[in-house]
Amino acid sequence: MKKYECTLCGYIYDPEVGDEDNGIEAGTAFENLPEDWVCPLCGAEKSDFEPVE
Ligand SMILES: [Zn+2]
Repeated sequence: MKKYECTLCGYIYDPEVGDEDNGIEAGTAFENLPEDWVCPLCGAEKSDFEPVE
């Protein structure tokens, strides 16, 4: 699974870690995050994230 980076603040979403503070279990692919999930650091929407190559 790919990591995704917030283009606004540089936060990296790592699927192996998830975002447990916001109810996202480890092992959740970025594509499977709820549409209303936002960057935990700056509140950017999913569309502001890009895959990390
Ligand atoms: Zn951000």
